[in-house]
Amino acid sequence: MCEEQTVSLLDVLKEDEELEEEASAVLAGSDSDHCSYPQGYVQRQALYSCHTCISNGSEAAGVCLACSYKCHEGHDLFELYTKRNFRCDCGNTKFKDLQCKLVPDKDEVNTSNKYSHNFSGLYCTCRRPYPDPEDQVEDEMIQCVVCEDWFHGRHLGSLVPDCVGSQEMICESCMNQNPFLWIYADHLAAAVDHVTQDAKDVEGRGGHVGIYLPDNRTDVIESTSKRVRGEPEPNCRLEELQKISQNRTRTGAVFWPSTWRSKLCCCSSCQERLSEAQLNFLFDELDTVQAYERRGQNKDQNQGGHDPLMLALDNLNRVQQLEIIHGYNDMKSELKDFLQGFVAEGKVVTPDDIRQFFEQQQSRKRRRVDAGPF
Ligand SMILES: [Zn+2]
Ligand SMILES: [Zn+2]
Ligand SMILES: [Zn+2]
Ligand SMILES: [Zn+2]
Ligand SMILES: [Zn+2]
Ligand SMILES: [Zn+2]
Repeated sequence: MCEEQTVSLLDVLKEDEELEEEASAVLAGSDSDHCSYPQGYVQRQALYSCHTCISNGSEAAGVCLACSYKCHEGHDLFELYTKRNFRCDCGNTKFKDLQCKLVPDKDEVNTSNKYSHNFSGLYCTCRRPYPDPEDQVEDEMIQCVVCEDWFHGRHLGSLVPDCVGSQEMICESCMNQNPFLWIYADHLAAAVDHVTQDAKDVEGRGGHVGIYLPDNRTDVIESTSKRVRGEPEPNCRLEELQKISQNRTRTGAVFWPSTWRSKLCCCSSCQERLSEAQLNFLFDELDTVQAYERRGQNKDQNQGGHDPLMLALDNLNRVQQLEIIHGYNDMKSELKDFLQGFVAEGKVVTPDDIRQFFEQQQSRKRRRVDAGPF
């Protein structure tokens, strides 16, 4: 056994901590003990749909994190990652045979909930499951901040930037439904060369990403923030941007820099426009997935007391990670025993040992669907 192929128990624990932080980012923002129903439509929470309770063809329903543990244990669940403005459906009239153990008394339906094909385990414009047994292409799934569907990077119609983790994405269909967003895109978003098959063949995914920086753009975008009290209401920034012509192609998904929401014009007519389009959440910095994850991390830190054995390892894909996180409590003692066996015998744990452990674990767990990249 050569040096590189082994990991010490210490390495395992160190990696655990990193994975644990990422895991808590997804789940700690949601309550794993109490059904979120009494809070009403929650700004953002982790959601699941249950294939065991809601079979194909019947109405879509979503349940909260706590209900996924307490009411749907052992069921076939789709992980929907987080969605905004949703109220837990667990046990309401959409469920024929299930009573919620946490909040049995619910309204018949939650009329403001929005459902997409994600609730039937389908994603993207190609309407495929994820992971997809028939798809061997390695690709990342990216969530649109408007429709909250997940898309294959290669089905977005534009090149995925390298620093995609820090950028919000709006899919082409949502852009076209809200054409004024293209005006912002001209000026705020990195102009990513659009994918033609030729370009893809030649350049692959790491193709050229250019950013337009017109001289007069910044002034217009910053003008409102520099305004002194008592000055008259400035012109609509969106209108001003519209006057500055740009050559950005208006096709494909748009990737936005991290501060883009704060650059949207909030004059009264723009507020009205966003509100009519049901896009007011774009004015709210707390709506972002990043803000949700920060809340989760803070909550987790306040609770303190990390168990360093929570998870092992790298070389696990996101599906496996989520699988492990979700089944963590069941699995913790088994993992501890497993690792302690190595300590007792003075052996090093190899990645293969760990992989084997999780494969055994995973075959016993309920199915989870990858929630996408970070
Ligand atoms: Zn619930
Ligand atoms: Zn169920
Ligand atoms: Zn429930
Ligand atoms: Zn697709
Ligand atoms: Zn969309
Ligand atoms: Zn405006």
